[in-house]
Amino acid sequence: MIKFSHSTYDELTRASHSASVLVFSCLIPNHSFFAPPLKNSHIAGLLKLEMLKIDSHTHILPKKMPNWSEKFGYGDFIYLQHHKKGFAKMMRGNQFFREIKSNCWDPQLRIEEYEQFNTQVQVVCTIPVMFSYWAKPLDCLALSQFLNDHIGKLVAKYPKQYIGLGTVPMQDAELSVKELERFKKIGLVGLQIGSNINDENLNEERFFPIFEACERLNLAVMVHPWNMMGEKKMQRYWLPWLVGMPAETSRAICSMIFGGVFSRLPKLRVMFAHAGGSFLPTIGRIEHGFECRPDLVAIDNPINPRNYLGQFWVDSVTHDPLMLDYVLKLQGSKRVMLGSDYPFPLGDLEIGKFIEDMNLPKKTKEDIFCNSALEWLNLNKKDFI
Ligand SMILES: [Zn+2]
Repeated sequence: MIKFSHSTYDELTRASHSASVLVFSCLIPNHSFFAPPLKNSHIAGLLKLEMLKIDSHTHILPKKMPNWSEKFGYGDFIYLQHHKKGFAKMMRGNQFFREIKSNCWDPQLRIEEYEQFNTQVQVVCTIPVMFSYWAKPLDCLALSQFLNDHIGKLVAKYPKQYIGLGTVPMQDAELSVKELERFKKIGLVGLQIGSNINDENLNEERFFPIFEACERLNLAVMVHPWNMMGEKKMQRYWLPWLVGMPAETSRAICSMIFGGVFSRLPKLRVMFAHAGGSFLPTIGRIEHGFECRPDLVAIDNPINPRNYLGQFWVDSVTHDPLMLDYVLKLQGSKRVMLGSDYPFPLGDLEIGKFIEDMNLPKKTKEDIFCNSALEWLNLNKKDFI
C-alpha cells in the first residue's frame, strides 16, 4: 500500500487536475480536481519516493558580485564575467578559473533540476575558491558577509528548499567568531571551511576558538578540500582534483584527530566532503602508523584514530556503490549523508540515484537521504515536509 505524508497528499491532490495523474484517482478517494497541474517529473518523484531527500553538499554564488580586486586595490579575487546568456566565467584576477552555468546562481532553476531526482532540499555553501583566506582579514570579512547575506536571503525566501552554510575569515579568529554570531542570526546553520588555512593544518591553536564558537553556537561545520597540496607539481590530468582533493580531506581529518580537536570539543558536529577523501580507505594504514610509531603520531592525542569513526559525518560522493558500502560499514548509516557537489561536473550529478539503486534497507537509505543530515545540522524533519 502506498502511504502519503500530508504535504505529499496535498500536492498530489492539487496535481490531480492534470490528465497525467488521473491514474491516482483510484488511490486517493474523495478529492477535488480544481488546482493547476504539477510537472510530470515532480509527480513521478512524489510517487516514486515519499522519503525526504536532503543534499548536504552543494555550491551556490550570487549572480552579481563586486569586483573585489578593484574595490580593495590588490589581489586576485574571484569575479564573474557574464559573457553569454545563462553562463558566466569565474575569473581569478585575469586568469580564467572555471565556466559556470545559471544553475550556480538561479534558485528556481536549481529547484526544478532537483525535482528530477526527487530531492527537495539543498544545503548550500559558497565555492571554496571564494574563501580568500589569503586576503587582509577585514577585506575577507567584507567578502564573507556579502556571500553570507546572499545565502541568508535565499534561506529566508525558500525555507523548505534551502539550508545555508556560511564562510568566515579563518585567518582572523576574532573576526570569524563575530561573523559566526552574526550569520547565525540571519538563519545560517553552519560554517564551511577549507581543508587547510593558508597551508596551515586545522589543529593549529589559532583556529581553536573558531571551532569552540561553532560548538557553543550549535553550528555545524563542513570541511571542504581546496588549495590542494602538490597542486603546482601535478598540473596535468586534473590531478589536483583527482589526487590532491582526497588527500587534502584526509589531511584535515588526521589533523583534527591527532591534534585533539575532536577530543577537546566532543559536541562539535563536523562533516567532511567527498566521503572523507582518502581517510576511510586508508584508515588501516593510519591506525597502524599510530600503533607502530606513537613517538611520531600519538604526540598530542593518545586515542586510536579508529575510535573516531562515526563521531564525524561524511557525504556520499564516492561515485561507487562498493566504496559507499565500505564507508557505511566504517561510519554507520547515521554518519553518512547524501551529497552531490552540485552543480559541478565532478559531482554526483544524478543526486544519489546510485544509492537508490543499491540494495540497502529502507532505514539505511532514510538515514543517508535525510536523518544523518538533519542530525548534523540540528534541524527537524517536520520543517521540510
Ligand atoms: Zn564541493
